[in-house]
Amino acid sequence: MKPARFAYHDPDHLAEALALLARLENARVLAGGQSLMPMLAMRVAMPDHLIDLNRIPGLDGIVVAEGSLRIGAMARQRRIEDSPAIRAACPLMTEALGLVGHIQTRNRGTIGGSLCHLDPSAELVTVAAALDATIEVASATGTRDIGIADFPLGLMTPSLAAEEMVVGLRIPLWPAGHGACFTEFARRHGDYAIVSAAALLLPDAQGRIARVSLTLGGVSAGPLRLAAAEAMLLGEAPSPALFRAAASCCAGIDAMEDPQAPAWYRRRLATVLVRRALEQAWARTEGVAA
Ligand SMILES: Cc1cc2nc3c(=O)[nH]c(=O)nc-3n(C[C@H](O)[C@H](O)[C@H](O)COP(=O)(O)OP(=O)(O)OC[C@H]3O[C@@H](n4cnc5c(N)ncnc54)[C@H](O)[C@@H]3O)c2cc1C
Repeated sequence: MKPARFAYHDPDHLAEALALLARLENARVLAGGQSLMPMLAMRVAMPDHLIDLNRIPGLDGIVVAEGSLRIGAMARQRRIEDSPAIRAACPLMTEALGLVGHIQTRNRGTIGGSLCHLDPSAELVTVAAALDATIEVASATGTRDIGIADFPLGLMTPSLAAEEMVVGLRIPLWPAGHGACFTEFARRHGDYAIVSAAALLLPDAQGRIARVSLTLGGVSAGPLRLAAAEAMLLGEAPSPALFRAAASCCAGIDAMEDPQAPAWYRRRLATVLVRRALEQAWARTEGVAA
């Protein structure tokens, strides 16, 4: 199939793009096109106007400074994956990016596009939730921040008004010495995961768990933080039995169901992946033997 007719706009300033978004009815922004172009071709999306963000300067910065990471919405996934600064400060993101599609899709795909496409299994959305990211949004009338927990409104629906776009995200970095692991199960390399799990652990001086973050992707419309499992782990001395017990919280989650996988299967996958992610994250904490 061919896309339905649309008008193409090619602004070279952010203000111009935001003015177009405010003025035009039924407009969509185009980032890397890796999800939007197939959606246009299949007529799942039929915008009257396409606003291409690719010529706008200054939307793709990557800055690691003062305990924080800021990534512009148009930063390409491959560039983020290859960033030595991100690998050192935020290894969870680097590991997850290696599982996003293929090198070819990551060469074009952007972090902003992945967040806004908001596939339930998108690795970058799960990572953003695990790291308590803040999404920076702009419109012709100003800017606002959205906490990642409030970003998904429903299935593949970000809480953005028609005249708004994402311009970047900020992530508070975990201290040096933390361990992180992103793992997933997909049917083939490069496919969206059926279920994914992200774990971050920080040990204290006694080798107990001083801080923990556990997040699942692919089980619900948005990423699922496992608050009960996190509470079970906090302050405890890690052991295989503790990690198994925390992972068993996944047996009770309200997992979604689709033709790819029934809910019981997602719960089973989640239980296994969370245990593995915890073990691997702990093995990667500084000063703790693998
Ligand atoms: C073969 C293949 C395999 C893939 N596998 C995976 C995978 O395993 N995991 C995964 O996560 N993704 C996967 N993807 C999707 C890929 O990661 C896309 O890059 C991503 O979903 C969209 O990013 P994009 O920059 O290409 O956005 P686009 O396709 O340009 O846009 C996607 C949507 O987001 C909106 N949008 C984009 N940028 C903004 C913005 N700044 N503000 C507001 N709205 C915006 C667009 O209007 C559109 O609705 C795959 C894609 C392909 C083709």
